[in-house]
Amino acid sequence: MEQDVLAIHGGKPAKTAPYGTGKRFGEEEVRELVEALEQNTLFYHFGGKVKRFLADFNALYGIPYSVATSSGTAAIHVALGAAGVTVGDEVITSPITDQGTLVGILYQNAIPVFADLQPHTYNMDPASVEARITPRTKAIVVVHLAGAPCDMDAIMAIARRHGLKVIEDCAQSYLTRYKGRLVGTIGDYGCFSTNDFKHMSTGDGGIVAVNSGDEEDYRTTHAFADKNYRRLDPEAMRNVAYLAPNYRMTELQGAVGIAQLKKLPWICEQRNRYGDRLTAGIRDLPGIQPPALVDGGWSTYWFYMLRVDEAKLGCTREQFCAALAAEGVSCGAGYIPHTVYMTPIFQQRCAYPGSHFPFDITGAEYPAGLCAEAETILQTAVRLPVSEFYTEQDLAETIAGIRKVVGHYSRVAQA
Ligand SMILES: *Cc1c(COP(=O)(O)O)cnc(C)c1O
Repeated sequence: MEQDVLAIHGGKPAKTAPYGTGKRFGEEEVRELVEALEQNTLFYHFGGKVKRFLADFNALYGIPYSVATSSGTAAIHVALGAAGVTVGDEVITSPITDQGTLVGILYQNAIPVFADLQPHTYNMDPASVEARITPRTKAIVVVHLAGAPCDMDAIMAIARRHGLKVIEDCAQSYLTRYKGRLVGTIGDYGCFSTNDFKHMSTGDGGIVAVNSGDEEDYRTTHAFADKNYRRLDPEAMRNVAYLAPNYRMTELQGAVGIAQLKKLPWICEQRNRYGDRLTAGIRDLPGIQPPALVDGGWSTYWFYMLRVDEAKLGCTREQFCAALAAEGVSCGAGYIPHTVYMTPIFQQRCAYPGSHFPFDITGAEYPAGLCAEAETILQTAVRLPVSEFYTEQDLAETIAGIRKVVGHYSRVAQA
């Protein structure tokens, strides 16, 4: 194993050049934006850009219908609304996710229920999902974390057996595949985010894929993103039957989205290659547990998260990260600081100030240890950024840096 002196001990860093960068936006976006402005309207229903963006998205994904929204959070709320999730329903989801997964559940006055995760895919364990179903359960929001697919066959089978809707949170998982199918097209609804940190950006924005192929389902979803105005049925347009928010996308976002979507397959290919080759380069190392994929999984690595076994590694996670950072390899200990149920909203059961609604409908509680595997994942995870602009040299030096640090500490541990 590599014998070099660690950079943290004064040796030469493994990473010799800065990470590759590049321009996400170019002339293509500018042209689309100018065309959007020249339409003399920026309203999605009158202009052509959001419509084109969705038509291109539908073609790329092979789906009949989708709806544009103002964010990924909005997309998930819209899908929940279209699925009929309402007051007092329970929705099963992941404890390691963005707050955006939870916002719509609570705004529908439904109660989030957390299923535990598989130790190395970091995605929901189907057995835990099934164990948390009650007569109140209405839907499952699966989160395909960091570009990696959930075990969709098992989850869909459970959902169908119990009559539950499945909403896929694909905010981190563009063009991710599961047994040859794109995630986001497998459940009843697939939700995407185009915020500035995802695989593609429109500044902010989102998409809901409506997978039933049912036109009425599409119309319900469309209306739920637009105050429940039935713009697709002009006679009934203002017959607002129940509450829905205004989550419309503007033509400016649609215009940028058209250009971004053309780059998406390349972006996802680059990220897939980088992540898979990183795993191949470190999987033999003692104390390093690379991320795993479910059978038939193909990841587009929004980030790369491995786990460390401190006993085998011979150092703590924090020592490992500090040594790696000194080698010039970007990394961070963990992901989100705690499972999402450890935040005050759940610990104090207070979604609306001065009220315990909707938690008090069921007396839901969220004690530490609720999802033991998820908690352990966050305590042992090391996260490395991934970018479509990273080079062959970045990959080689990142692998070399990890091998050097692991080599050092395992020699120390053996000595
Ligand atoms: C980013 C993200 C969201 C929310 O998307 P926004 O566009 O920021 O609202 C939801 N879920 C996951 C898993 C995310 O990463």
